[in-house]
Parts: sequence; C-alpha cells; structure tokens
Amino acid sequence: MDALENIQVLCPYCGESFDTVVDTSSTQQNYVEDCQICCSPIVFDIEIDPESDTLHYVTRQENE
Ligand SMILES: [Zn+2]
Repeated sequence: MDALENIQVLCPYCGESFDTVVDTSSTQQNYVEDCQICCSPIVFDIEIDPESDTLHYVTRQENE
C-alpha cells in the first residue's frame, strides 16, 4: 500500500462528500480535519489492517 491513500469521506455535518488524503504509515490514527465544504471539525478514526492492507475509517462529529 502506498504511504498516502485517497479516501472519500461524507461530512457528518453538511452531508457533502469530498476527497482527502490519509497517511497510512501508522496503523491507528485519530485526528480532526475541517470539512472542505462547511469547515466544521470532523473527527477521523483511521485503522489499517496490515495483513489485508485494508483501510477502515469512521468520521463523526467532534462533540459525539
Ligand atoms: Zn461539511
């Protein structure tokens, strides 16, 4: 798997989808990135399964 992976995320605030890039060099990540449409802070929970090279991710609102 490349070190950077393009994913399409659905904003939990405005419902719009946009593309963003995930650094897949660490297998578990949790960070906040602003929505590219409405600029709300989206929490990204990223998990990479090293055996199957599968990227799992969840997006949620910051206050949840
Ligand atoms: Zn949004």
